[in-house]
Amino acid sequence: MKTVKRWLTWLTDPSYWLLKIGGVVFLTLLTLGITYQAVSYLRLRDDPRNQAFWQWAVGDPALRDDLVTVQRSRCPGAPFILPADGFVGLLYEDPRGPYSSRSPHQGIDIFSNTEPGITPVYAAYDGYITREDGWRSALIMRIPEDPQDPERQIWLYYTHMADQSGYSFIVDAFPPGTQELFVKQGTLLGYTGNYNGNSPRGVWVHLHFSIVKDDGHGRYTNELQFENTLDPSPYLGMAVNYRCEQVTIGCTEAPLCP
Ligand SMILES: [Zn+2]
Repeated sequence: MKTVKRWLTWLTDPSYWLLKIGGVVFLTLLTLGITYQAVSYLRLRDDPRNQAFWQWAVGDPALRDDLVTVQRSRCPGAPFILPADGFVGLLYEDPRGPYSSRSPHQGIDIFSNTEPGITPVYAAYDGYITREDGWRSALIMRIPEDPQDPERQIWLYYTHMADQSGYSFIVDAFPPGTQELFVKQGTLLGYTGNYNGNSPRGVWVHLHFSIVKDDGHGRYTNELQFENTLDPSPYLGMAVNYRCEQVTIGCTEAPLCP
């Protein structure tokens, strides 16, 4: 008690009081900052999915292989195939990484255990391919009848199929300006890459895959907005929603997650 009193007297002593208050505020902020970092670290350490992420980041190809999902045929009862082999590391509705709970991930990221331009990307379903002028790394595919709701049309968006400099890995059959070219499920579309537009943020080699809603007039909506997208889980027969808390991704029986 005496020490506190003496300390308070020192603090409120008019000489250098501004400097002292400043110091106390600085130390308080520093302590709060360190505590926040420690709590984040512990949360990171305890979520097995973050451990998997860490395992991937460390970069040992053998360790990475344990995380890779290879599912080249449709899961039982599901209409789509997984469009690429890889570590399904960022899930639908995922608040981690560059995303947040207010603006979660709009699709799934399938990370490749290869260099850019090696891992093939296949059409997840039958549909009509469009590649707008200027699209270096992306394709969008129109599906006239949503297999989960035949009354509506949906779109499948595939992106990051170029290297960092923007060199495209999309196959020659789909040059920029391609409109409504019909392809069957399993058709080779291109290869995964690490293109991230003009953003200075580097990304790992991956495919971003999402299901985008139609605007009701035959056009696709903005795929960057979460509300414009659908959960791919029932289409793939895999629990790829962040809320499912699945660590390794594979075919899952319905219900996909509690
Ligand atoms: Zn993504």
